Amino acid sequence: MNAKLESGVTTRPVTRQTFDEVLVPTYAPAAMVPVRASGLDVWDQEGKHYLDFTSGIAVSSLGHCNPVLVDAMTRQINTLWHLGNGYTNEPVLRLGAALTEATFADRAFFCNSGAEANEAALKLARKYAHDKFGPHKSRIVSCYSSFHGRTLFTVSVGGQSKYTEGFEPLPPEINHINYNDIESARAAITDDVAAVIVEPIQGEGGVIPGDVEFLKTLRELCDKTGALLVFDEVQSGVGRTGALYDYMNVGVTPDILTSAKALGNGYPIGAMLTTDEVGKHFTVGTHGTTYGGNPLATTVALNVIEQINQPAFLARVREASAKVFANLEKLVADYPQLFAKPRGKGLLIGLPMAEGYKGKSKDYTKVAEKLGLMLLIAGPDVVRLAPALIVSDAQIAEADSIMRKAADAFLAG
Ligand SMILES: *Cc1c(COP(=O)(O)O)cnc(C)c1O
Repeated sequence: MNAKLESGVTTRPVTRQTFDEVLVPTYAPAAMVPVRASGLDVWDQEGKHYLDFTSGIAVSSLGHCNPVLVDAMTRQINTLWHLGNGYTNEPVLRLGAALTEATFADRAFFCNSGAEANEAALKLARKYAHDKFGPHKSRIVSCYSSFHGRTLFTVSVGGQSKYTEGFEPLPPEINHINYNDIESARAAITDDVAAVIVEPIQGEGGVIPGDVEFLKTLRELCDKTGALLVFDEVQSGVGRTGALYDYMNVGVTPDILTSAKALGNGYPIGAMLTTDEVGKHFTVGTHGTTYGGNPLATTVALNVIEQINQPAFLARVREASAKVFANLEKLVADYPQLFAKPRGKGLLIGLPMAEGYKGKSKDYTKVAEKLGLMLLIAGPDVVRLAPALIVSDAQIAEADSIMRKAADAFLAG
């Protein structure tokens, strides 16, 4: 029936080696292959245990196989999976109501990823500007070192040339300014700008919090020029910084906010939130997606929001954050040759490598992984910690202990 199946190709055991044989080499995954996980615990093919301080990349904020989500998902799987956009469904209506009640927004558009949410945000900003002011108002201003996704539009808007090289020609009318540089913002945001897009805390770019003054200035400049302010909260959102969205910490309200990653706890979903005034420009037929807002994804996201958007839950995120930061400050004091001052917010934390170890963040995380702790990097110079928001004090202590052992092992070569 199937030659490959008969020859045994598709039934052979799969290992890390198989990745190199059958997948396009866009990634260089770790040597171990995780097979099972629960909460912050992960087990690989050999049965070895790891403490997960990555949550994917700030995705599984309620832990792997969160029981409330498993239960909600199982019920929905037996009820309704998919409808075309010719029909709406109850979970998407509930999620839209929950997100608009919880935020500045009046309207939501659902899609399947962060890149798609940003693509929708940028297209909507263009549409709004063209409808209201005319096609000359089309420029997009973004920041260097930002990350907004991998579609050609969002990757061009992202300010990292290493991700656009080789993919030219890129869409025009996109300018980049230095993050937290108020003077450049003033120079760049002029009357022909349709949208300013910014991460309130740069994630991939090294876990760099935005200065409140910078973000406030962007708001003022957008108000002055009629540009829309887009906050990309794909990484910072859904409780990660100790507030439901980081704009709430900062006290600057965007016109459009994008969310994904933790919104589905690992089930793909993206959201673009906006006001009535802006959202009405996406009229029938102007934008869309086959899977966006499907009943499975929106059921998971609704249950995620219900668990995370509780004062006690968010207070615990801030408490856990203070504990992790206190441990990292001590770690830096004890290993000043290896690490520099930690930065970030909530449980999105960057630990820069010290001067003598620049470029070595990946090497350090590999040592930690061998010792049973999964960590992220944010570029070659920064170790990134993004544990599930349900991390316990015991797990925080365990991570600290492994990070110290890894520091010793790393320095010993
Ligand atoms: C991860 C990320 C994206 C892209 O999300 P995808 O789901 O991978 O498309 C966009 N913006 C920020 C800030 C991110 O961290």
